Amino acid sequence: MQTNFSPTQLADPDTAVANGILRTCVHCGFCTATCPTFVTLGDELDSPRGRIYLIKDMLESGRPATEEVVRHVDRCLSCLSCMTTCPSGVHYMHLVDHARAYIEETYERPWPERMLRRALSKLIPYPGRFRLALRAAKLGRPFARLIPGQSMTAKRLRAMLALSPGALPSTEPGQGPGVYRAEGERRGRVALLTGCAQKVLSPSINLATIRLLNRMGIEVVVKAEQGCCGSLDHHMGHHEPAMRFAQANVEAWSAEMEREGLDAIVVNASGCGTTVKDYGFMFREAAPDLAVKAARVSALAMDITEVLEKFDYAPTRAKPGMTVAYHSACSLQHGQKITTLPKQLLTRAGFTVKEPAEGHLCCGSAGTYNILQPEIAGQLKARKLENIQRTKADIVAAGNIGCLTQLSSGNLPVVHTVELLDWMNGGPRPSGV
Ligand code: SF4
Ligand code: SF4
Repeated sequence: MQTNFSPTQLADPDTAVANGILRTCVHCGFCTATCPTFVTLGDELDSPRGRIYLIKDMLESGRPATEEVVRHVDRCLSCLSCMTTCPSGVHYMHLVDHARAYIEETYERPWPERMLRRALSKLIPYPGRFRLALRAAKLGRPFARLIPGQSMTAKRLRAMLALSPGALPSTEPGQGPGVYRAEGERRGRVALLTGCAQKVLSPSINLATIRLLNRMGIEVVVKAEQGCCGSLDHHMGHHEPAMRFAQANVEAWSAEMEREGLDAIVVNASGCGTTVKDYGFMFREAAPDLAVKAARVSALAMDITEVLEKFDYAPTRAKPGMTVAYHSACSLQHGQKITTLPKQLLTRAGFTVKEPAEGHLCCGSAGTYNILQPEIAGQLKARKLENIQRTKADIVAAGNIGCLTQLSSGNLPVVHTVELLDWMNGGPRPSGV
């Protein structure tokens, strides 16, 4: 694709990167067929190619984002299915991330939306605040249907209340800062990102991860200074807070690497994993010391399934005689290109694994998407649940907390892959299974 940026515009490193990405697009349109919003809405402007044109025009003009551009970029799930499909290697993720930051800088959203986005940004990445907000939402749940109107604000409020869990898991100890010692001879040492929302919504995921790794002879370090990975803010275009969160993690893990060494930085929420693996890019223009540390952190970041494979996961229990529908989270399959490994591990653990049809399509969770775009998210969820139902499986497994929350309203128990692997290696049976 031909671009027309001025030399002054190209002096900005972010614009220069966007220019390079835009120039790799050959407008072939292959990506439209696998884009969930194009498949759902049928509008070229809600396809990757359409958005690429809109972003190109916005950046080249140097003018503030228009309502039209914002509408179509906002509807993008950042699922990255287009990156898997694109034969030309267009790095859509970096392009849309830059576009979102540009929009936040130049466009004034209506005040109810500004408030909602600010609230999400100030609540979800902080476990204490998020827990309190969920308790308040629980009280509001019975009244969700009484919120009147068909305005976007009303729909978003209803979606937010509907998504809040009816019962919040108790704050279980065992995932806080500290060193969790390996059982038997130590075979490895890793840091674990325990996350923010996941800690509150499903503490059993971190507990299963730590238990399983310890049993496999791996010491797990949870740093007190770490926190949210930054992706929630990053995907809303909030550049500063995203970078602050990311830097705190980079510093915490770098200190640990220098202190006692790490074999991996384990991430068990694939949405977060995609971002941590991108820290090197995010800090490419930072001071050299920080840029080097961020690149090292990204190089060491691994999804939990990659770590389990590296340390030869093996089951110790007899086959459970159960069928698992494996939902491949977009961030894992498209963001990190991890597609077969989770299924191989579940099969090795003794489960029969089935893959729902249209596995490349997003479930509609996508961070805060199911709150900010409730209608499209609802349609994608219904489609996904129907495809899952058709597998006739006993359980649904996925590697990302967002998907687990989104799919929990279906008929089947929904668990993290690592909870099943821990169970088959001697851990407790996951709740609800
Ligand atoms: S598939 Fe790739 S090259 Fe083709 S239109 Fe989409 S982004 Fe551009
Ligand atoms: S990231 Fe997903 S929703 Fe966005 S353009 Fe690409 S395929 Fe479509």
